[in-house]
Amino acid sequence: MIGKESIIIAENVHKWYGKFHVLQGVSLTVNRGEVVVLMGPSGSGKSTFIRTFNALEEYQQGKIIIDGITLSNDLRNIEAIRQEVGMVFQQFNLFPHLTVLQNITLAPIWVRRLSKAKAEELAMQLLERVGILEQARKYPGKLSGGQQQRVAIARALAMQPKIMLFDEPTSALDPEMVREVLDVMRTLARDGMTMVVVTHEVGFAREVADRVILMDSGSLVESATPDIFFTNPQEDRTRQFLSQIL
Ligand code: ADP
Ligand code: MG
Repeated sequence: MIGKESIIIAENVHKWYGKFHVLQGVSLTVNRGEVVVLMGPSGSGKSTFIRTFNALEEYQQGKIIIDGITLSNDLRNIEAIRQEVGMVFQQFNLFPHLTVLQNITLAPIWVRRLSKAKAEELAMQLLERVGILEQARKYPGKLSGGQQQRVAIARALAMQPKIMLFDEPTSALDPEMVREVLDVMRTLARDGMTMVVVTHEVGFAREVADRVILMDSGSLVESATPDIFFTNPQEDRTRQFLSQIL
C-alpha cells in the first residue's frame, strides 16, 4: 500500500554496474517509524540497494520516492534527500583530523547553517544520548571502535534526519563492542526513527525489526515479521540462508 505514511517507496528498481545487473527489479515500501532489517549473502546487493535511498548510488530503471521527494538526478533533490536520510557505515568513516565534536558539528554548521554555539549544543546532547559525552574533545583515533561508531551515529543524527540507514554497523567491531552500538540503535528505534538496517545480528532483528527481508542476487526473496522469518520462513532460499547464519 502506498500512502502518505510511506516514507520510502522503491518501485521496481534496476541497476547495472556495467553489464552486471546488481539490482534486478527491487520494490520496497517502508512506513514512517518502521524498522526494516535487510539480510542476505555477501554480494547480493544490500549495500547498493540502501545506498540508492540517499543517492549515493544511481539507478537506471524504476522509481524511488523518499518522503514525497522523487529521487532523480536533479541535484536539488539530492541535497534535500541527503538532509533527510542519515547513514552509518561499517567503517565509521569519521574525519580523523577532526575532534569528535568537530566531526558532529561540521555538517550542521555548513549545510544546515547552524551557529557554532547551537551546533555544539546539539552535538553535546547527541553525545550524551549515545553515552560518550566525555569523549567530545578527543580525536577518533583515540576512541574504541564501539565509541567511534557511536560518534558516527551522533554525527548522522545531528542533521536531524527522518530516516537512518545502517550498513552492517557492527561488522567491523570487536565482539565486546557490538552491544553498545546495538543498544543505541535499539533506543533510536524505540524513539520512533524510521530505520533500514543491513545486519546479520539475529538478536537485534528479532527484538527490534518490524520486518526482516532476505535479499539474494539482486532481488528480494522474502519479507516477513521476525517471528515468521526466523521460525517459519516460506522460501527455501531463506531456510538455506538461515541455516548458514543461525
Ligand atoms: P552486499 O552489500 O549485499 O554485500 P553490494 O551491494 O556491496 O552487496 O554488491 C553487490 C554486487 O555488486 C557485488 O557483486 C559487488 O562486487 C558488485 N559491486 C559493488 N559495487 C560495485 C562497483 N562500484 N562496481 C562494480 N561492481 C560493484
Ligand atoms: Mg554490503
